[in-house]
Amino acid sequence: MSTIEDRYAHVVEEVRKAALGVGRDPADIRIVAVSKTVGIDVVGEAVACGIHDFGENRAEVMMPKRAAWPNENWHFIGNLQTRKVRDIVGASCLIHSVDRAHIIPRLQDRAESLGIQQAILLEVNVSGEVSKSGFRPDEVEGVLQSFDEYPALLVQGLMTMAPQADEDVVRSTFRSLRELRDRLGTVRFGANVSLQHLSMGMSGDYRIAVEEGSTIVRVGRSIFSEDFAEV
Ligand SMILES: *Cc1c(COP(=O)(O)O)cnc(C)c1O
Repeated sequence: MSTIEDRYAHVVEEVRKAALGVGRDPADIRIVAVSKTVGIDVVGEAVACGIHDFGENRAEVMMPKRAAWPNENWHFIGNLQTRKVRDIVGASCLIHSVDRAHIIPRLQDRAESLGIQQAILLEVNVSGEVSKSGFRPDEVEGVLQSFDEYPALLVQGLMTMAPQADEDVVRSTFRSLRELRDRLGTVRFGANVSLQHLSMGMSGDYRIAVEEGSTIVRVGRSIFSEDFAEV
């Protein structure tokens, strides 16, 4: 039987190999352990293994874990329901899943009332699948321009999810997000917009994502599931 420690060490090693294989510094890639399927006690085991970044996709699941482990970094990666904005802003070190324009003023209002600047990523639907949320690639520039109006938000980059598909389709999805980021990197936006992060890659595809420039991988099953793990 493998342990969280074994499985996490394996993911760290795979990220390292993928990064070095394309001439990247492994230190530039942050691994977020997606703990959405495990309880507070398992998060505690992970913390004991030296894991400090956790990803959650539901506010009501994240909040009690965060209360139990307040010194860890809690990333929000799920569907951002309007009525949960109140809980998530301030509780999450980085909201990866800002996927529609009308949620942005809500995030701004909440962050402003807390007197904080909330770090976010814009989720982009690169593959265009109707089942996926996120901005269309051609919308992103205009959305980024609007952040002059939202000084309590700090845009740090883009996020995407690849389709369940062959490796070449997955790779081209990740590559497209990086190319979009590189192109937008030449455009002037407000001081609260930078595009240093690309959140892309999950258990099934994080190696490809790292090869294509990911700076944050969101890995759940490969760390927390005995069945899915490769060690
Ligand atoms: C669940 C989830 C992950 C992790 O997926 P695994 O396949 O378990 O690694 C990553 N990102 C998002 C947005 C998720 O919902």
